[in-house]
Amino acid sequence: MTSCGRQWRSRWERAPWSAQKAAPGPAGAVSPTLPSNGSLGHPDLCRSACVFVVGGTCLNGQSCTYCHLPHDEKRAKLDKRQRGWLKELSESQLLPILLDHMEARAEDKGFARQAMGLLQLLQRRLRVLPPAARPETVLAPKKLRNLDRALSRMTFFQLLRLAPQDDQQGHAIAQAIYELRRAAI
Ligand SMILES: [Zn+2]
Ligand SMILES: [Zn+2]
Repeated sequence: MTSCGRQWRSRWERAPWSAQKAAPGPAGAVSPTLPSNGSLGHPDLCRSACVFVVGGTCLNGQSCTYCHLPHDEKRAKLDKRQRGWLKELSESQLLPILLDHMEARAEDKGFARQAMGLLQLLQRRLRVLPPAARPETVLAPKKLRNLDRALSRMTFFQLLRLAPQDDQQGHAIAQAIYELRRAAI
């Protein structure tokens, strides 16, 4: 059964929202022009691609929390070795690295202003963390360069997901992500 898949495809082809600026709607409402809720913010801020849509049809339709828009298969991912290196870094070592990349990505993609609130939350988090030694004291420069290259291929949202979760900020961050996604449509 691929008819559903074809349906959403023709719908998004007619709606070039990546080039349009939609008026912000009421909080909590996801744009009805999107093929799924998880597609909000596509391509830089959306959730990961829905495996069902890639396979043909997603029965969750618009309520699916994954992205139903086409994703580049070569979207960067960290390999096992690189994920291991990230774990060796403390939060105060990792956050500045991620923040640098997120700022660069927001700048490149033209949503630096909209991303400010979210980035400020992470910077605030960084300020209350115990100061840490430079990341070079934990990882060899070669590994750090390798990581840097991998991170520079990741989207803003992928980078954000690598940041350690903080319970106290969880709600504020979720809200900031939602606002950023809406602003970026
Ligand atoms: Zn997407
Ligand atoms: Zn789906």
